[in-house]
Amino acid sequence: MLQIFNNHINKYKQTLISINKQSKILQKYSDKKLKEQTQILKIKLENNNLNTNTILIDAFAVIKEAIFRALNLTLFDVQLLGGIILNNNSIAEMKTGEGKTLVALLPAYLNALTGQGVQIITVNDYLATRDANIANKVFSYLNIKIGLITQQTNFHDRQKQYTQNITYITNSELGFDYLKDNMAIHKNNIIQRNFHYAIIDEVDSILIDEARTPLIISGIGDTNDKPYIQAQNISKVLINKIDYKVEEKSKNIILTEKGISKCERILRIKNLYDAKSRWIKYILNAIKAKELFLRNRDYIIQNNQIIIVDEFTGRIMEGRRWSDGIHQSIEAKENIKIEAENKTLASITYQNLFLLYNKLAGMTGTAKTEENEFLNIYKMNVITIPTNKKCIRKDLSDLVYKDEYNKWQSVANECLDMYKIGRPTLIGTTSIQKSELLSEMLKKMKVPHNLLNARPENVLKEAQTILQAGQKGAITISTNMAGRGTDIILGGNAEKTTELIIEKYKSQQQNQCIMNNEIKELLTTSEIKFLQSTNITKERMHDKDCIENYNKLTTIYFKVLNKYKKIFEQKKKEILDLGGLYVIGTERHESRRIDNQLRGRAGRQGDRGTSRFFLSLQDNLFRVFGGSKIENLINSLNIDDTTPIESILLTRSLNSAQKKVEAYFYDIRKQLYEYDEVIHNQRKAIYNERKKVLNSTFTRDCILEYAEYTIEEMLTIYITKNQDKNTLVSLIKLLNIKDNIEKLSTMNLYEIQHYLNEQLRISYDLKEIYLEQLRPGLIRQLEKYYLLQQIDQAWQEHIDKMNLLKEYIGWRSYGQQDPLIEYKNEAFHLFINMIIYIRQTVIYLIMRSRLIIDI
Ligand code: ADP
Repeated sequence: MLQIFNNHINKYKQTLISINKQSKILQKYSDKKLKEQTQILKIKLENNNLNTNTILIDAFAVIKEAIFRALNLTLFDVQLLGGIILNNNSIAEMKTGEGKTLVALLPAYLNALTGQGVQIITVNDYLATRDANIANKVFSYLNIKIGLITQQTNFHDRQKQYTQNITYITNSELGFDYLKDNMAIHKNNIIQRNFHYAIIDEVDSILIDEARTPLIISGIGDTNDKPYIQAQNISKVLINKIDYKVEEKSKNIILTEKGISKCERILRIKNLYDAKSRWIKYILNAIKAKELFLRNRDYIIQNNQIIIVDEFTGRIMEGRRWSDGIHQSIEAKENIKIEAENKTLASITYQNLFLLYNKLAGMTGTAKTEENEFLNIYKMNVITIPTNKKCIRKDLSDLVYKDEYNKWQSVANECLDMYKIGRPTLIGTTSIQKSELLSEMLKKMKVPHNLLNARPENVLKEAQTILQAGQKGAITISTNMAGRGTDIILGGNAEKTTELIIEKYKSQQQNQCIMNNEIKELLTTSEIKFLQSTNITKERMHDKDCIENYNKLTTIYFKVLNKYKKIFEQKKKEILDLGGLYVIGTERHESRRIDNQLRGRAGRQGDRGTSRFFLSLQDNLFRVFGGSKIENLINSLNIDDTTPIESILLTRSLNSAQKKVEAYFYDIRKQLYEYDEVIHNQRKAIYNERKKVLNSTFTRDCILEYAEYTIEEMLTIYITKNQDKNTLVSLIKLLNIKDNIEKLSTMNLYEIQHYLNEQLRISYDLKEIYLEQLRPGLIRQLEKYYLLQQIDQAWQEHIDKMNLLKEYIGWRSYGQQDPLIEYKNEAFHLFINMIIYIRQTVIYLIMRSRLIIDI
């Protein structure tokens, strides 16, 4: 197998040989001795300055053996190689079905030996739970503790899970915990530990697809639904192309002169763009809601709420809301209760969140097309790992139709043909609406099929649908949901089917379901009895008192598994004779990467398979980005509407249009990243200051430091304003020191500063003594309270200002200056002002705290 490795990878050949040699030696070890290796390796690592490369071979060999003992699977060389790449801060591109879940265990173990936590990031709770269960089995052989955090994990448990050696968690839980930690009022409420090493599964989905929407924690703001409703009514009378233009590419609306005066007339205002009224924003949002946000494509309505459908995964995003008033405008459009506009309390983009880690790695089936982005922004290389068995999938050339109608007709006909011959077919669609359109067509043609999209009733059947998708004659229509994390196995999935059967017959007294004859014949009478009476759960399988039962259950499991393996193997052969899984794409996506994901469903682990895209010139991507070139080309070909075009020239044009889209969105993400980097550096500074306060047991120093800075800053103003007495008056007032201004103004700058610092300390000592008498320890609590309260409040206001600034710079950027530089400059001033403001208000409040106590 080694000869298939390309040059880049050849350099690890020797390492792989050594790992395999070492793991052979370990095969002879008892379980106890294998477990002891963890401690031995920890010591070895410590003696080598925690350089993980020095024990990589030993650690990987240990894991390989543990995986074998726990799961009865022998890691392939390509998996070991993936592990090495992940330990090198890189992205391992490995196709679906190549066993990435196990690959992650290699570097996770190695890095966990340093004593610092390792986090494995997945895209959803289901995958986190599934992978943590597998890891638990393996690591029970190695004395390594596995943590798991999902939406359901409560606060206290969360804290504990983070301290385990390796923790499985989704990207959004990790991000929200980070933001919440930085809003904590007490240090016991902090739950995360250092950001040491993270392995991101489906790394392109998290760092690229999700990079455009920041994570936001928001508080309730003001509600005033009237302007939304009024703007919505106005948008109904405005006419596209006359009153406004829609720029689909940038998702923007531009009002024409006609449109502007129409709005002004209806609203009876003189200037729609008057900065004081926010009408322009309401109107533009209402038109956006009308033209750009479509029901059943961008969102669905569930329980009288607008629920966003993720454009990349096709899944619903429960609880997420579009910002800047868009969500409210859509609520107005759909005549649903308008929720209050939210105020951002804290936010971060995934880009900057993951850059907090000392060491970052990722794995996915599709990353190579975005390798520049990974390198530029995250400093991660993308290394393609060869598949264990050669991929023999046939990617047929695109069929392009003039219009959508004919495209869908051909797709439906193709499904009918495949159904007739029994070849399993997966059809990828880009929206719920389109998936349902095809489903209707197939119903009329009497082609049985399954539908997988974000509608709750279909989501419930997701596992079942995917389980069946590889079976003979299965026609499965899906949105991008089927693109990831799911493995379509030809013939059927023996493991899953076995698990389902065992679960079904366990504790049968309660279920009273009749056992299938095939299973009855397979098992002995005592096995049937045992199965029907046991209620041992997965979680308890490793408990001591359950071991005996566990062993019995395992024997049954393997009996059933082997039976289904045989049945499914036979079915798989039949399907392979038909050509394997057939994947049909119905529209090119925003990037080749997403198309490749869909294609990658077919041809897993060396199976036969085929993929083909059916396109039309009316498809969104080509309409918006194709330009006139493609249309001219088609017209010059002069063919009828029902004949597809398979021309190299056309495919090339389509590819270049798609590359244009990729570049366009990359620019948007890069811009977002560059802008966010500015606020990110400020956020780091503020969060650090906050942490300092939170962890401090003696905040007095912090208060005095703030006061001294304040004195220095105000005295600088005093000097620049030609020793303006008013500044001194304000300063004295702020510090709450009763003093004689005349006396002060006779001193030189140094003397004033020295004098005020001294007075401040005296007055603060007095205050402290007074408060200590009232209630010991109160002053420290007050200090902390004021410090945190003011930092948080000022930071939230600062975020608002920064958002406004960005919007404002956007308007202005038609001029010559580079908007980013302008943004950076102004952001810097805003930040400095905020810091000064925080210090001053803290001092002001603390120096008057006595009044509050007296009340
Ligand atoms: P990926 O995430 O790369 O799509 P998974 O981790 O979901 O792949 O694994 C796909 C399937 O391959 C699983 O059923 C897993 O048990 C199996 N598998 C993984 N590694 C091996 C191996 N070395 N030998 C045999 N089967 C394996």
